Amino acid sequence: MNGLKIRWIGQSGYILYDGKTEICIDPYLSNVVDRIAGRGRMIEAPLLPEELKSDVVVCTHNHLDHVDIDAIPLMDKKNMLFLAPTDAKEQLAECGVTKYEPFDEGKAFKTGDFELKAVFADHSVPAVGVIVKHSGITMYFSGDTEYNKKLEDLKEYNIDIMFICINGKLGNMNVDDAVKLTKIINPKVAIPTHYGMFESNTENPENYTSGLKCGFIMEHNKEYTVSEVINSV
Ligand SMILES: [Zn+2]
Repeated sequence: MNGLKIRWIGQSGYILYDGKTEICIDPYLSNVVDRIAGRGRMIEAPLLPEELKSDVVVCTHNHLDHVDIDAIPLMDKKNMLFLAPTDAKEQLAECGVTKYEPFDEGKAFKTGDFELKAVFADHSVPAVGVIVKHSGITMYFSGDTEYNKKLEDLKEYNIDIMFICINGKLGNMNVDDAVKLTKIINPKVAIPTHYGMFESNTENPENYTSGLKCGFIMEHNKEYTVSEVINSV
């Protein structure tokens, strides 16, 4: 695992860093959902958009908590490559993104020791989940998705750690569906995500982990090594 580190920055946002390359998935760092939809943050953003130093930012779909249209314009994007479904391309361009590659289902991407792949998701707009492979470890980030039989095929990836939405609203699976899918995929560690950001759209993560031997609740804005996450259950 070579010191690979991971930090949850809220909602579906994660930063992965191995000392050379940094990947960020779905950073939500502004309060744009409050500005546009009247839903304020429950927790402060752990960093300013200007402070994000990732080489690659993955946006799993074009919703405000995944394509943050107030934060992206402020990011230092000179050396930042954005990966997102084609559906989000125009929105990202309007945010000043100049380095973009389409990341639709089936697309693969390599940078440093990271291998990324866009996988199926069933959401209200075109969306993907993300498989991240690094030094023999396979992680799956569900993005936003309803339960769908096609997700069961992900077990073929032999996932070590999965991060799965549990909030049960607005096009996302609920705790029961998330537990069902987790048991089928059978990862070493299963981490609930996409909760604790909006009062009207959250869930108690223990409702998910209590039904699973492999369940683990990550603390917000705490840096973990991936090996300690794997050894946590
Ligand atoms: Zn979302």
